[in-house]
Amino acid sequence: MVGQKRKRSSLPPQYATAGDCCGGGGGRRKRLAGGGPDYLDELPDDLVLAVLSKLAASASSPSDLLSVHLTCKRLNGLGRHDMVFAKASPASLAVKAASWSEPVQRFLKLCADAGNLEACYILGMIRFYCLGNRSGGAALLARAAVGGHAAALYSLAVIQFNGSGGAKSDRDLRAGAALLPEAEPHPANLFMADWWASRGVQATAKKPGLEAPAAATGDSDGGGELRLCSHVRCGRRETRRHEFRRCSVCGAANYCSRACQALDWKRAHKAQCVPMDRWLLAAGEAQ
Ligand SMILES: [Zn+2]
Ligand SMILES: [Zn+2]
Repeated sequence: MVGQKRKRSSLPPQYATAGDCCGGGGGRRKRLAGGGPDYLDELPDDLVLAVLSKLAASASSPSDLLSVHLTCKRLNGLGRHDMVFAKASPASLAVKAASWSEPVQRFLKLCADAGNLEACYILGMIRFYCLGNRSGGAALLARAAVGGHAAALYSLAVIQFNGSGGAKSDRDLRAGAALLPEAEPHPANLFMADWWASRGVQATAKKPGLEAPAAATGDSDGGGELRLCSHVRCGRRETRRHEFRRCSVCGAANYCSRACQALDWKRAHKAQCVPMDRWLLAAGEAQ
């Protein structure tokens, strides 16, 4: 292209390239034959990219970015650079339900893949709640949450608290929730866990129907047996009786929250959890 002008396409740019706008056919950072205003040819790719990134960061609606892709092939190609997707503004990602389509989903996916947390959140919510893709949606929400996206953190908490996504004992949900990477325990949790351990309070994996002696739990406050969260890195103890929920499969583990249940399932309980009827069977055989 050096030293000569590029031939204009006989079609206006938008027509010449509209077919490519969503097909992913245009290579990245590659000048393609076809339309495009001549002045654009004088600008190096990295400068155009910088402009596009700025545009993406300040775009006020999804159509701002999509129209870039429709303008010409070169912008379409450069507009597909990860740098542009990563910088896409929240407003440019605020897609409307009425305009939901495969290309729009692909656009959000590209932004999410480029590390755009807002895109992870939006696509995660849409997949989880609207498209019924629970594990894929939860994984995206977890990615946004880990990146510090506040709304994603809250949404994951809601999902875990409600056990959204299936039956109470749905393993799929646990698998989805278990995508949360286990953070290093907070000093406060370490303190609480050590506190109870030093007082002989353990998260007893007690068989249903067989009451553990009160002494074994170190419970001496006379208020009945308050249970410790079975997730060893949690350290929370019930503040009133029956506050925590039992594992619905074995009934032997107790959890302060869905988050702890999910983390403990991944860490240990998956190998320990034995369905309740087998406990009862074993108890029957022992008699
Ligand atoms: Zn807990
Ligand atoms: Zn269990």
